[in-house]
Amino acid sequence: MSHFWEVAVSLLWHRFIWACDGTVMCIEVDSFKRARWSAVASPDLTSAEKADGDAPRQVTYETLDEGRIARIWLNRPQAQNAQSRTLLVQLDEAFGRAEADDHVRVVILAARGKNFSAGHDLGSEEALLERKPGPAQHPTFRSHGATVSAIAERTYLQEWHFFFENTRRWRDLRKITIASVQGNAISAALMLIWACDLIVTADDARFSDVVGVRMGMPGVEYYAHPWEFGPRKAKELLLTGDSIDADEAHQLGMVSKIFPRAELEDKTLEFARRIAERPTMAALLIKDSVNAASDAMGFTEALRHGFHIHELGHAHWAAHNENRYPVGLPPDVPDWRTLGAPKLARRDEP
Ligand code: ZN
Repeated sequence: MSHFWEVAVSLLWHRFIWACDGTVMCIEVDSFKRARWSAVASPDLTSAEKADGDAPRQVTYETLDEGRIARIWLNRPQAQNAQSRTLLVQLDEAFGRAEADDHVRVVILAARGKNFSAGHDLGSEEALLERKPGPAQHPTFRSHGATVSAIAERTYLQEWHFFFENTRRWRDLRKITIASVQGNAISAALMLIWACDLIVTADDARFSDVVGVRMGMPGVEYYAHPWEFGPRKAKELLLTGDSIDADEAHQLGMVSKIFPRAELEDKTLEFARRIAERPTMAALLIKDSVNAASDAMGFTEALRHGFHIHELGHAHWAAHNENRYPVGLPPDVPDWRTLGAPKLARRDEP
């Protein structure tokens, strides 16, 4: 990797990967005066489907094979597909559109660009504008708890609706869903992937949740880590912030297939076509039986409990920090702006 790219990638990470709460990020941006990152990524407005005036859609939707397969694209490659509120609401609409369409049998969730997603969007200009009162404000920042003055209640309600309950809704979609992942999938990226029934990846895929190490939180809001990684591996990855690669994710049973990066799109589609051959009722019976078994083992209740522990974390930091910011700040945690992309966990390295 050239020095230029090392710097550029580093800046992009710093700018986009951090989030787990929406309403307070502007405080952080203001207090840290991170305007110096603002020239790093300029949106490519010409490459995306247009909607809502001139704004590109952050999620696009298409159907293939005479409507049997729907493909949803995260479409913010210039921002490493960081999850703004706009993106999350558009994603919910796209899943809802596939759900309502009786021709659709399988839904592919894919992402444009080098990386699947860098997590929740904490710092992009678009993300700041959608939170603040003004013409660019997303309507969900005037509802769903966003107008409540108490930080803990506001954070709880906003995260319940837009980080937790939506993810659970996607997990229980009445269609079979396949996540198709390349590059880095960091923190909240895992929530989108884990909500899907099947996960296939490119050989360059990396998975991590850095919210524990860099924000003093238990991890992201949809707390499936112990179920996906196994309890001990979950502790290791959350306590170190390290990533695992596609091979390890495959060994853990999280990932079904690993394809060369250049073939990811075609091979995912080929795989989806196999799944789409199942009668829709049979597919649903299989999905529901497995999900019911997970639920009987405590999956949904554990996630509910994990979400509330997560909110305890926000309440703790809001009480602890002088500026009432609801996640850990230096010196309690490292200054994440000085940290790069997550390091790959290796069994022979501490
Ligand atoms: Zn949170």
